[in-house]
Amino acid sequence: MTHNPPWQSIKGFMADDEAARLHELALSAAPRGPVVEIGSYCGRSAVIIGLACKRRHSVLYSIDHHRGSEEQQKGEAYFDPDLYDETLGRVNTLPRFLQTLEQYDLAGHVVPMIGTSAVAGRCWQTPLSMVFVDGGHAFEAVDQDVRTWAPHLMPGGLLVMHDIFPDPSKGGQAPRQVYDHAIFSGGFIVRPMTRTLGVLEKRAARSSGPAVS
Ligand code: MG
Repeated sequence: MTHNPPWQSIKGFMADDEAARLHELALSAAPRGPVVEIGSYCGRSAVIIGLACKRRHSVLYSIDHHRGSEEQQKGEAYFDPDLYDETLGRVNTLPRFLQTLEQYDLAGHVVPMIGTSAVAGRCWQTPLSMVFVDGGHAFEAVDQDVRTWAPHLMPGGLLVMHDIFPDPSKGGQAPRQVYDHAIFSGGFIVRPMTRTLGVLEKRAARSSGPAVS
């Protein structure tokens, strides 16, 4: 008999093995400090990470403008009519997201932050144990998300990125370019991927200047 994980029925785009890995990573990181995720959508990853935070007495800050990303707009490939608000005349994923948090009893462990990740991060100062990037998938969006939030990772903190496709025929390349750039910066140790889930561990700060032997 297969045991279904609790997040199975929530709308979202993440394979089961990726979800299981993300949950494990959050369980390991969360005791050290709060977690930030960019891209809440309907709350699938907020439950995957939030249940880990609850178990570890930590907190997840979940950031989204809740207007849907480029590919989720009317007429685009990932448009979902259930998430379109006729009164507002736009996609609005917030009601579904709040419903999900309530359903999984996560209100005490997941803090919704409604706005762009750049604005949410402008005055941020708290060191983070993990950052999960799964917001807009255009290069500028992913790049901005990583530039805004990765500097707040504590040494040993995890930068986890979704939709890293090594094969361009399988998916958009912007997240992979930003992921590669982060590796190239030398600031991270590369951990094994799970399908399209990239995992980087922030190195401890190195002293500047060449090593002297
Ligand atoms: Mg994704």
